[in-house]
Parts: sequence; structure tokens; C-alpha cells
Amino acid sequence: PADKWEIHPDELTLSEELGSGQFGLVWKGSWNDRQVAVKTVREGFMSEEEFKEEAQVMMKLSHSKLVQLYGVVTQRSPIYLVFEFMENGCLTEFLRARKGSFSQKVLLGMCLDVSEGMAYLESSNFIHRDLAARNCLVTEDNVVKIADFGMTRFVLDDQYTSSFGSKFPVRWSSPEVIKFQKYSSKSDVWSFGVFMWEVYSEGRMPYDSRSNAEVVETLNAGQRLLRPRLCPQSVYELMQWSWKEAVLLRNPVLMKRT
Ligand code: ADP
Repeated sequence: PADKWEIHPDELTLSEELGSGQFGLVWKGSWNDRQVAVKTVREGFMSEEEFKEEAQVMMKLSHSKLVQLYGVVTQRSPIYLVFEFMENGCLTEFLRARKGSFSQKVLLGMCLDVSEGMAYLESSNFIHRDLAARNCLVTEDNVVKIADFGMTRFVLDDQYTSSFGSKFPVRWSSPEVIKFQKYSSKSDVWSFGVFMWEVYSEGRMPYDSRSNAEVVETLNAGQRLLRPRLCPQSVYELMQWSWKEAVLLRNPVLMKRT
């Protein structure tokens, strides 16, 4: 009997190419009269056996602010990951394309959407490990949802997985992740702070033109990202909470009290 997360390739129709991701091309498609995004995985880019086991866990994660994984095609190569389709694409590009048009209420709403999804992930004991605006997607109704949760664990490219690698997301990483690769919900909170900064700066690159090494120096010197012009002081204080060096101070409960 087929596993229930396994989708039969005949049930899928691929229509157009949407872009290219960490693992390979991403296609728009349909499955059971539903629009879907299909991530295809190039040979040698993913530790597939580990992913197949974890896919069962990821399929059970279900929340209105998470991009749903519907199923996988693993019986043949290349394997496919079938996700909920997100009409308005990647949040970073969405922010950049509509720069200047966002009210403070809308920007705060985006942060709220993602905070709800992240609270759900933490309550499910699941660590995202790569939260950033580029890993969030936007629906037709401009709701922001979190994608790619936990997926970095299956990336085989060491430029991406080693903290010295050129593709490692240093700008979103807490000091204990950069130094010891110690991931936790607290390191996700750090990334959430950087995410909020990206939202309020309408898709700017954190630490702009600085190199990864310069970002690490900046953090070691105790410096942090500056308040974006559109960001109210109260929200900037939340960002600063999320960038505390001491892990225990990076506490969403304390954040709520401010
Ligand atoms: P990865 O995170 O694996 O590097 P992405 O998720 O960035 O790959 O996918 C590449 C592009 O494909 C995105 O920028 C986006 O435009 C598109 N895409 C990915 N997932 C979806 C989705 N669920 N719905 C619509 N478009 C998507």
C-alpha cells in the first residue's frame, strides 16, 4: 500500500516554471483541482533518505501561516515536493516591488502572520533554522506564510551548511549558531528579529554591503541593525529584544510585556 504522503506522478500536472531554488527548479502545477508549487530535487543536492523520513513529520505540521506540504513523489528520480501554491510569490521580492506603498498597519500585519506561524512551530517543537523574508511567501490576499521550515538539514552543499560557507545565512543567524551551530527556538527568535527588520525596511538586505565576516565583527562589537525609517520605536524594541546575546533573554514572553 502506498504511503499516504506519497503522491502518484500521474495525479500531477506541471504547467510553468516559477523559479529556481536551493534544490532545483520550482514549477507551478495542479493536483486534485488544486494549484500547487512543485519543487524538483536535482540529483546530489539533497540527502533524500533523511528527507523522506522527515517528510512525514513535516506533513503533519498544519497551520494557516505555514506553507502546507501536501505530499511528495519519491518513487522515482528526481523527487518532487508538492506545496500549497502562493500566488504573490517570495516576500522579499513582494516588498521590493511595492516599496513605498505599505502602511505601518500592513507591515505589522506581515510580522504578526509570521509570528503566529513561528509560535506554532515552537509549540510543535520544530525549529525552522532559516527564517528570513526570502523564505516566506505571499498569498493572493497578501497573507504572509512561512516556507522551507527545517529544510536546511537536507541540503548537501557545504557552502550553505557550514557557517564559514559563502551561502550560510550569517545575517539571520544568532551568535551561538554562527559559533557552534546551536539551533533552537531561541535562534529562530533572533532570525525573526532580522525578519521584522527586513519587513520594515521593505526588503533591504540586512547589513547592506558588508561581507559575512564584517557582519560577524559588527555583532561581536555589540552593534545591531539600525531602526528602519518606517519602524515605530516600540517595534524596534522587540527587534532589540530578539538580538540579545544571552539566549535566555531572547524571550517572547518578556517581549510581550514591553
Ligand atoms: P529554495 O528556498 O529551495 O531555494 P525557493 O523557495 O526560493 O527555493 O523557490 C524559488 C522560487 O520559486 C521562489 O522565489 C518563488 O518565486 C517560487 N516558489 C517557491 N515556492 C512557491 C510556492 N509555494 N508558491 C508559489 N511560488 C513558489
